[in-house]
Amino acid sequence: MPVARQEVRGIDLDAQTRCAHYRSALDIVAIKMKCCGVYYACKDCHEALAGHAIEVWPQPEWTRRAVLCGACGYEMTVAQYLTCSSRCPACSAAFNPGCRRHFSFYFASAG
Ligand SMILES: [Zn+2]
Ligand SMILES: [Zn+2]
Ligand SMILES: [Zn+2]
Repeated sequence: MPVARQEVRGIDLDAQTRCAHYRSALDIVAIKMKCCGVYYACKDCHEALAGHAIEVWPQPEWTRRAVLCGACGYEMTVAQYLTCSSRCPACSAAFNPGCRRHFSFYFASAG
């Protein structure tokens, strides 16, 4: 069954959720923010557009589907994303391994 496309917000978004801040071939992940439940391409897009402070996902909620693969539209749980070795569990598209450095902006006590 085809996966429904989620709405993703961001600045200069392309079809695979790259944004004005992160535009490499591997920057295809969007993250649903805990604070508003909306997918954003990155935290900087959230800061520019949302008008409120970002809230990180506490570990007990890492079972929620909150990470979107921009290549196939698959929604993975936070826990899946944190253990996927920078590949989409559904389509094997490569994610940016450098994102690990930013996990703490999105997920409590990660990275
Ligand atoms: Zn928000
Ligand atoms: Zn951005
Ligand atoms: Zn995928």
